[in-house]
Amino acid sequence: MSGGEKLGSHILERLRFYEELGVKWARKGVAPPSNPSRGPARGRPAAGSSQASRPASSVYHEARTMFDSLPEKQETLQAIREDLGDCQRCKLAPSRKNIVFGSGNPRAELMFVGEAPGADEDDQGLPFVGRAGQLLTKIIEAMGMKREDVYICNILKCRPPGNRNPEPTEIASCEPFLFRQIASVKPKVICALGTFGAQTLLRTKEPISKLRGHFIDYRGAKLMATFHPAYLLRNPNEKRRVWEDVQKIRDYLKSLRDS
Ligand code: SF4
Repeated sequence: MSGGEKLGSHILERLRFYEELGVKWARKGVAPPSNPSRGPARGRPAAGSSQASRPASSVYHEARTMFDSLPEKQETLQAIREDLGDCQRCKLAPSRKNIVFGSGNPRAELMFVGEAPGADEDDQGLPFVGRAGQLLTKIIEAMGMKREDVYICNILKCRPPGNRNPEPTEIASCEPFLFRQIASVKPKVICALGTFGAQTLLRTKEPISKLRGHFIDYRGAKLMATFHPAYLLRNPNEKRRVWEDVQKIRDYLKSLRDS
């Protein structure tokens, strides 16, 4: 294959990938990323309209105050991980293989927060490494970023048996470590993936279908909720909405860099 044919093949592959995500900028008049080369029962949304209306800010008062007990001095992720230790703080500890703390850039502008590790993540001790994780990587790259540019973690650091939903006592035990991670990384944007990620961070019971699609002020950052990649694997038609959401993140981060 000649160099030109290889390049053509590469471009076609990339276009197929964007199509797979539901990205059709040519037909919709949306500009492609400036540098595309840089760039399972989990994550279900509650029923409801996918056209979000912005919830009242008062809903999120508790979400803001929960950071008040954090240490004044900025902690490193390593210190937080050491404090977590061989955590036995909730009943998920005995059944886990590995604690999945989080991975990525400790100074990331963009932080993804999912729900809990699945089987692949439990095996490897890394977040989002299964099929849903591969899709998340594609989404990040479609935004013109690399996976190592962002920071990725979950509400829970241990896998719930059978990928069942997290229980309130488990979330209560584990979420202080997430909040410390957020305070350490200080991202410009937090992307909450799926129902539990969004509801836990925002202290709300609003369905993800209502929360997604718009920025919410969150501790000096912007929070964007969107559907979980695992949900997209079961509902590929919703990829279009996720692409709309992450485009807003991409454009907001670009506007910060340009200002
Ligand atoms: S889920 Fe969190 S609180 Fe529970 S044992 Fe694992 S690390 Fe500890």
